[in-house]
Amino acid sequence: MSNLAYRRVLLKLSGEALMGDEDYGIDPKVLNRLAREVIEASDAGAEIALVIGGGNIFRGAGLAAGGMDRVTGDHMGMLATVINALAMQDALEKLGGKARVMSALKVNDVCEDYIRRRAIRHLEKRRLVIFAAGTGNPFFTTDSGAALRAIEIGADLLLKATKVDGVYDKDPKKHPDAVKLDTLTYDEVISRNLQVMDTAAFALCRDARLPLRIFDMAEPGVLLRILRGEPIGTLVRA
Ligand code: UDP
Repeated sequence: MSNLAYRRVLLKLSGEALMGDEDYGIDPKVLNRLAREVIEASDAGAEIALVIGGGNIFRGAGLAAGGMDRVTGDHMGMLATVINALAMQDALEKLGGKARVMSALKVNDVCEDYIRRRAIRHLEKRRLVIFAAGTGNPFFTTDSGAALRAIEIGADLLLKATKVDGVYDKDPKKHPDAVKLDTLTYDEVISRNLQVMDTAAFALCRDARLPLRIFDMAEPGVLLRILRGEPIGTLVRA
């Protein structure tokens, strides 16, 4: 294959990553740029699966805070991730990629159901697979969905794109002297009480000894550089 350090990876993007400077929905320019990054990394030889959150449209907890039943809110949040996944599938295909959305909730008229073996087959055929609807269950997040699917498909690495360029010893927005940590073990994350992803997602990664890299996707070309082995962001490992 290629000169890549990783064969198969899962990239988790938050729904907010699609908003750009807007405060709701999808900015087509931002979506297109992210899709271009994914295509570039795929063309270099990586098998890439994606999970996209839904926070740019709905979050169950936010809807529940406004008085809605939490489970209904989470169903709406999961459907929001299907919308984002369809948008990304379109953007990837416009750029010449082959992509498939697979949903944990059954919405067969618009995308495939998630079936693990079929997902792996898509990846082997060099299709980009977008896992939608998180875990399919309320009270979870798409971080948990990403960790779960990454483990199921045997990904070498889970990539979590954030607005911060890694994990810091304290909140860099509040503390100008905060120091970025290049490598952490799962145990260090727990003992230092660092926030890298939600607890359920983190527990899945730790138990499966799945390495996790947290990085900022803003810089063009960063995804491919990571796949080539550059130590960008923060690596959390067993
Ligand atoms: N969600 C859920 N179960 C899952 C994944 C997601 O119920 O397994 C719902 C939940 O309401 C969540 C919303 O979908 O708030 C959108 O996902 P998330 O908040 O993880 O999106 P992100 O913050 O990454 O944009």
